[in-house]
Amino acid sequence: MAIKPKKHKWQEIQDILLKMKEDTLREITKTLKNGADTTLIGEPSGDIYDQASSERDRELGLLLGDREREKVHAIDEALLRIKENEYGICEECEEEIPHGRLKAMPFTRHCVKCKSDLEKLQAQTKRFEEERAYREIPLGSEEEDA
Ligand SMILES: [Zn+2]
Repeated sequence: MAIKPKKHKWQEIQDILLKMKEDTLREITKTLKNGADTTLIGEPSGDIYDQASSERDRELGLLLGDREREKVHAIDEALLRIKENEYGICEECEEEIPHGRLKAMPFTRHCVKCKSDLEKLQAQTKRFEEERAYREIPLGSEEEDA
C-alpha cells in the first residue's frame, strides 16, 4: 500500500482543482470571444423563426457562461474547504466522500447517494416548472411589434 502523505491530505485534489479552475477560466474567455462572432451565424431570411433562434442562441450562450462561472465558484469553494479542513465531507449526511469520487469530481459537496437524491429532486422540480411554463404561455401568442 502506498504511504499516505501526512503533510497535506488533499494536495493531489488541490492540484486538480487549480488546474480545473485554470481550464474553466480559459474556457470562459474563449466563450466570450466566440460570442462576438456567433451573431454572424445564421442566414438572414428575416422571419420570426430566425429572430427567435438567434435569441435562443444568446440565451444558450448566457446559460453556458453561467454554468462555467458556477463551476469556478464551486472550485473556489472546494479550495476554501480544503484550507479550512472541511473538505471531503458530504453536506447532507456528513459522511466522508470516497476518495475516488473526489478525484473524479473534486468540487462535489455530496456523496453519491445524496447527490443522486438531490438530482432526482431537481429533476422533479425542473419538470414541474417546465409543465407550468407550458401552461402559462398560450399557444399561438406572438410577441411581435411590427
Ligand atoms: Zn451524503
